[in-house]
Amino acid sequence: MKIDYLDKFSGTLLGVSIGDTLGHPFEGMIRERIYSHFKDFKQYLKDNKRFFKTYTDDTQLTLHTAEALIQGSGFNENNFIREYVKWLDDPPIGPGFGCISSIQKLKYGIPWKKAASNSGGNGTAMRVSPIGLFYCKDIKSLNSAALKSSVITHSHPAASAGAIVIARAIAFLVDKSVENRFSIEEFFATLISSISDSQEKIWEEFIKILNRVKDNLNISVETGLIKFSQVGVKSPFFIEDYLGKAFVHPYTLSTVACAIFIFLKNLNSFEDCIIQLATAGGDSDTVGAIGGSLAGAYFGLGNIPDDLKTMVKQHKNILKISEQLHFKFIEKYEIF
Ligand SMILES: [Mg+2]
Repeated sequence: MKIDYLDKFSGTLLGVSIGDTLGHPFEGMIRERIYSHFKDFKQYLKDNKRFFKTYTDDTQLTLHTAEALIQGSGFNENNFIREYVKWLDDPPIGPGFGCISSIQKLKYGIPWKKAASNSGGNGTAMRVSPIGLFYCKDIKSLNSAALKSSVITHSHPAASAGAIVIARAIAFLVDKSVENRFSIEEFFATLISSISDSQEKIWEEFIKILNRVKDNLNISVETGLIKFSQVGVKSPFFIEDYLGKAFVHPYTLSTVACAIFIFLKNLNSFEDCIIQLATAGGDSDTVGAIGGSLAGAYFGLGNIPDDLKTMVKQHKNILKISEQLHFKFIEKYEIF
């Protein structure tokens, strides 16, 4: 079956922004508390549109990643740094500390090797999806661009592992059609192979976590979130009060594990998938954004309901950027 890549590119970037927008009001709440607000989320959304007015840093930085790729027809360090510095003027909405502190240093000309924070936060996995799209036919370049895009702001190996795994997942999913499904075994084998050529201890730990997610796809979303919300989390990201609760910690390994878990539990409907992601608990906007990128890459724009598309602030601009990125992709890889 022929893949409509424009549909997939647009679905991915819009997927990020929908998950981010829906998750934003629930950021920092445990899942139990989120669910005390409604019985039927779709009705709640209809009645409370005013709560879902904006996306946050996750979408902003994803769009800047796409802009940087468009400018250079691929990864170029200077374009990336310039775009991330431009984000400071957006201005940032709900930024993570690791991200903003490093980008402020980049703004003042400090080289990235010194500016990057030693943070294992989820700030690079949440912005990486355009790299997965652009390099979906060029996996060697994908791995290298995802890694480089991460280390310019986050020197911690957890952040780079998360960025590589999500970029690789996006590349895998854009080539699958909803009609044919895909092999869960093949999906995990692909993700794991993308980070298996390193002796890095955290990368090895991440592989174990991904295998645990794969082996637990039969448990409920609720139980899975209690299991994976704190998985692999290191100080200072660990919050003792939330131990044993569904509250996704803003660390790369836990956020990526939960986003992948929820996505794979909801392969029948984009809408159901994005609702489960955005109401995960804890760092809900970023689980929504990362999981939204996976769901958008798999389902494509055509399977996203119109009311979810149009609720996103400046959604037409996101579609325009998707078209420009797609144009650079077909031009570079001669895909017609
Ligand atoms: Mg955010």
